[in-house]
Amino acid sequence: MRRFIITLACVTILVSATLLFLNAKTEKGLLKTLNETKQYPKEAENTSEEGKAEQTSHKGKQPNRVDSATNETKRKSSFLVCIDPGHQANANLEQEPIGPGAAETKNKVTYGTTGVTTGKPEYVLNLEAAVILKELLEKKGIQVVMTRTSHDVDISNRERAEMANQNKADLFIRIHADGAENQDTRGFSVLVPGQNNPYTAKIYEDSFQAGQMIVHRVSEKNYTLLGNGLFPREDLSGFNWSRVPVILLELGFMTNPEEDLLLSNEKYLSDLLLQVAAGVADYASH
Ligand SMILES: [Zn+2]
Repeated sequence: MRRFIITLACVTILVSATLLFLNAKTEKGLLKTLNETKQYPKEAENTSEEGKAEQTSHKGKQPNRVDSATNETKRKSSFLVCIDPGHQANANLEQEPIGPGAAETKNKVTYGTTGVTTGKPEYVLNLEAAVILKELLEKKGIQVVMTRTSHDVDISNRERAEMANQNKADLFIRIHADGAENQDTRGFSVLVPGQNNPYTAKIYEDSFQAGQMIVHRVSEKNYTLLGNGLFPREDLSGFNWSRVPVILLELGFMTNPEEDLLLSNEKYLSDLLLQVAAGVADYASH
């Protein structure tokens, strides 16, 4: 009996030792596995770092999304608007052709008008309006690129149109304000390319439709329109160089004392642009 107990004890000790040994090995194995697992995130991190770098470089390239098939696919998923806040701090009166292959030339960028009441230069109002419109469009899921975000630039009207082309914008919106000799003249309007212009034959119809939809939305809220609100123009370099549908908003007359004040009233301007954004959204989904 005693022998049996001793044998049992020995067997128990042996089994325990074996189990302990095996456990230690398993733990080692477990640790090893853990270490290996730990390495995975490291590698994954590296990969995502590369991905990140790639993403960042894509992001950096976004304003000129012309060279990447991936970006092209991305872009198609949402409507893209290129906004051009008209003019800049200093005019550039050098000449450029009014359209591709044209002998006739025009100033690269003119001074624009000035508020008779506010004294505000048009290029300042145009950028203020552009920033508001950008936000309103983005809220509607529309992507926006801008030709300028500061006043201290030198970008000709041709170059602005080419920026819209390079970005393959679905709509190029130029923002301006009007001026007239007669201070009584007032009202919002949209300029569109003319029907009989060889430079804009391909984009005339879409541009006209976008303009019409915007004017319709603005007229819904009883804003003063200039005439019927829609004016074809054949003489604008910014239209003639554009290969994407293009319109030009004339927000109102800065030479009309009352309208000049209204355009510098943030609520008035935002409400007006809200209607413009609704018109753009109509066009985007038509
Ligand atoms: Zn202007």
